[in-house]
Amino acid sequence: MIKIDLILLPFTILEETLKEFKEYGKEDLEAFAIWVGIEENNTFIIKKVWIPTQYNTILSYYVSDIDVHTINVDLNKKNYSAIAQLHTHPGDAFHSCVDNSYSILTLPGSLSIVVPDFGNIPIRGGLNDMVVYRLLDNEWKLQSKSKVNKIFKITN
Ligand SMILES: [Zn+2]
Repeated sequence: MIKIDLILLPFTILEETLKEFKEYGKEDLEAFAIWVGIEENNTFIIKKVWIPTQYNTILSYYVSDIDVHTINVDLNKKNYSAIAQLHTHPGDAFHSCVDNSYSILTLPGSLSIVVPDFGNIPIRGGLNDMVVYRLLDNEWKLQSKSKVNKIFKITN
């Protein structure tokens, strides 16, 4: 993942992701998703959003070890890899201590995206209303808006 410098994100996947998040939000629950797809040279093409089995509260989500294992088995089966993990917050988006230490994605260069307001954000804003972190040198580092806009390209 570390070599990826361009991520193609279909608009429909962004739309589906926010729709799923808002469903959980209606119940006042945080939610978790991953964007999966294929790597081609230094480009990652997002093919699907997956909503893994999870346990949710207003302030957290949890994916059990066995369900993380299932994700990895499914990735292998489809020849996909996971480029980004996403989760919602009830209010502001930031990476909490829990978010830092408890991550499903562990490969260097993976992304972690926090979506504010349970996903009730304008979709046309793309990733501009979200905060994006990248796993570099074993740390989730906040990516500037300009970096995010350079790496992510929303496609039709
Ligand atoms: Zn969080």
